Amino acid sequence: MQELLFFDTQPRADRDATPRSRRYYVWTVGCQMNISDSERLEAALQGVGYSPATRPDEASFIVLNSCSVRASAEERILGKLGELMRVKREQPDTQIVLWGCMVGPDNRSIFERQLPMVDHFVSPSAVDEIVALAPNSLYTLDEPALPVRDMDHPPVSVHVPIQYGCNMSCSYCVIPLRRGHERSRPLEEIVEEVRRIVARGAREITLLGQIVDSWGHDLPGRPQLADLIAAVHDTPGLLRLRFLTSHPAWMTDHLIETVARLPRCMPEVNLPIQSGSDTLLKIMRRGYTTARYRALIARIRQAMPDISLTTDVIVGHPGETPADFAQTLALCEEIRFDKIHIAAFSARPGTPAAEQEQNPALAVPEDEKQERRRALEQLHEQIATERSAQLLGQTLEVLVEGESRGKWRGRSPGNKLVFFAHPDEWAGRLARVHITQTSPWALQGNVLPD
Ligand code: SF4
Repeated sequence: MQELLFFDTQPRADRDATPRSRRYYVWTVGCQMNISDSERLEAALQGVGYSPATRPDEASFIVLNSCSVRASAEERILGKLGELMRVKREQPDTQIVLWGCMVGPDNRSIFERQLPMVDHFVSPSAVDEIVALAPNSLYTLDEPALPVRDMDHPPVSVHVPIQYGCNMSCSYCVIPLRRGHERSRPLEEIVEEVRRIVARGAREITLLGQIVDSWGHDLPGRPQLADLIAAVHDTPGLLRLRFLTSHPAWMTDHLIETVARLPRCMPEVNLPIQSGSDTLLKIMRRGYTTARYRALIARIRQAMPDISLTTDVIVGHPGETPADFAQTLALCEEIRFDKIHIAAFSARPGTPAAEQEQNPALAVPEDEKQERRRALEQLHEQIATERSAQLLGQTLEVLVEGESRGKWRGRSPGNKLVFFAHPDEWAGRLARVHITQTSPWALQGNVLPD
């Protein structure tokens, strides 16, 4: 599950003189899964003769990859669709596709909305379906399968989906309603995709799933994530391997041992806790207790003392009392996460929590939700400042992803952002960086000679 990680990506830059009739514009809101879906869509559209446009009015085919996890994400998409109304009026041949979680299999409400600018509604991850809709695509859905095409120039770090959907039914979450039940991709297919992407220049792969640890349980022979990690670990050219997002009820000791043993597995785990109160965890239907969570963290830290731990927390879920929230604060203070993705509860239609929110005895008032969010953010910043400060004077191996404002930008093994200035070309390489300055969310330093 990674529903609390949010991105908003703009289309990539124009590269050639392709006419508007063969240009697409893809706009993405949401989690890493959406980013990954959009990257795959772009590669596939380029495979059938399309080029990217930088602005919607330069494209004849527009795709909005949407997110439903929070009401605010949906509002952004609806705002963008409003802007696209003008494009459609001025260039009526423009085809607009609304894609992603706002168009889940049982999201009838999307069809009831007045969205006259939308030509097609497509469910999450259905890349083939969208490519077949592109007016100048040479591909049709009658063909057995869309020829696999990877990004020509992948970024240094690429997310590869290994599983779609989710079989859990957390009270607040729309993902199972929108993305359907869990489907694991076969091991051989993933290994081959990683090999191709790395051969084209990627250096870090993040294996992606809603509950990434549960990968394989629906495949013949029931392989485990640890088996997949071992299978991709020695891909020639691969420098780093990560996985996202774990679930406390699914993470196994075998996985922990595998990550601790394999040198290219980075010491980072994202393990959403959501609440520090057992009462709330039960209401949320999370399937674990705080005692089980604490025991798991202890085993992870014993195997990997330098592990970077990140988590997700929802504050203000219906039924959360001040005492429940105090337990969340206490648990976060005790575990001292490197990063906490914090969200104030947002009711999503069709979920049990949305019904609970209708009950005034259970609903947490909006100002109280925001107050709790601010309190946790404050604690988070204080802990992140202290955790970063521990890295002052250390030398970290940094995988450089690119440049930002005249400096090289990369990531430490624990996924901290690191900046340094140096005249050489560093993109895609590992640099040894001596840390000279720290802040809660980023580090600065100097490159050491090899
Ligand atoms: S249902 Fe639960 S486990 Fe599944 S994606 Fe949603 S929050 Fe994550």
